Amino acid sequence: MSKKILIIGSGIAGISSSLKLKSYGLNSLIVDKGKFIGGRLSTRETKIDTNSSYFFHGAQFFTAKTPRFEKIINMGVKKKYIKEFGNFYPKRYRGNKTMREFLLNLSKELNVQQQSKITKIIPSNNKINVFDDSKKKWVSYDAVISTPPAPQNYHLMNEFPLLQKTLKTGSYHACIAIMFSFEQIPNELKNYYDFYKKPGIFSWMAAGSDLHVWTAHTNEKFSDLNYDKDKDFLKNKIMSNIKKIFFNSKIKFHNLHIWKYAKVANKCLGYQIDPKYTVAIAGDFLEGPNVESAFVSGEKAADLILNRFESNK
Ligand SMILES: Cc1cc2nc3c(=O)[nH]c(=O)nc-3n(C[C@H](O)[C@H](O)[C@H](O)COP(=O)(O)OP(=O)(O)OC[C@H]3O[C@@H](n4cnc5c(N)ncnc54)[C@H](O)[C@@H]3O)c2cc1C
Repeated sequence: MSKKILIIGSGIAGISSSLKLKSYGLNSLIVDKGKFIGGRLSTRETKIDTNSSYFFHGAQFFTAKTPRFEKIINMGVKKKYIKEFGNFYPKRYRGNKTMREFLLNLSKELNVQQQSKITKIIPSNNKINVFDDSKKKWVSYDAVISTPPAPQNYHLMNEFPLLQKTLKTGSYHACIAIMFSFEQIPNELKNYYDFYKKPGIFSWMAAGSDLHVWTAHTNEKFSDLNYDKDKDFLKNKIMSNIKKIFFNSKIKFHNLHIWKYAKVANKCLGYQIDPKYTVAIAGDFLEGPNVESAFVSGEKAADLILNRFESNK
């Protein structure tokens, strides 16, 4: 079957859709508005002396509880671009040096194009016409899978009211990520600190590619209340809280990243594929607040598209 398929978003949901389609012999093009592959599986580079270190300012780790994802993770561990993180049950994993490394390896045989922002999707006879705002051109496809976070996806689905209805049912928590480094690594520093259900403003704090570079995430309550506040105010407030924890150490601020749509608070319910057109949606918002759920959702979208092609034959 020769079909022209577009996937919007090079996060884990987009990559898993494309991989699943490939397993059925269907090629697809993944486009993403960002500079780098990975979406919320992201890493930021900094130079310490002359060496590169990497902050993990999005997802900090992922689980592999489902057999298909476990298989992919085991392959990554074997090929050394994924490693186990900490000593948890169920096991937790990270990209070996960067989070992005995981998706770069996974997508080696896929067709991925960054810095392409899709702004309109319009059905026309049996085709789906898509407008790439970065290139200022329309392109026609047989099918589209759209994976941006639900509120951003909603704006792309004006012509598909039942998918919009699905996308409206969920919600996200924000997360404020602050990246900092230690001039000298303190004695007995662990590689993560879990603040889950503890008083204060943090949920989690962990080293990136080495113990110099750290990312702290503020908890849901603080993030939802403050994500749109002045950046200097946030930087000063969060850094002063970090300094209280590591009061004996010299700490340097690097960057602040505000994720408005970080983790799914309520999943979306309803149609995943339009009843009439070959347009599907995928992402964590359909399955749950983590990397593995987004992977599962991407595979489901690929199956729905394949079934639609089969039934339209
Ligand atoms: C701070 C933070 C911490 C987290 N911690 C964890 C954790 O420890 N463990 C865990 O499992 N999960 C964690 N998560 C959640 C996890 O990162 C997400 O659930 C998962 O990465 C979502 O993947 P996705 O493919 O659905 O979406 P995304 O990764 O958001 O991918 C969507 C992509 O669509 C692109 N896009 C959007 N609009 C357009 C457009 N118009 N045109 C083209 N491209 C577009 C975006 O650039 C993006 O790359 C965390 C998330 C955040 C933000």
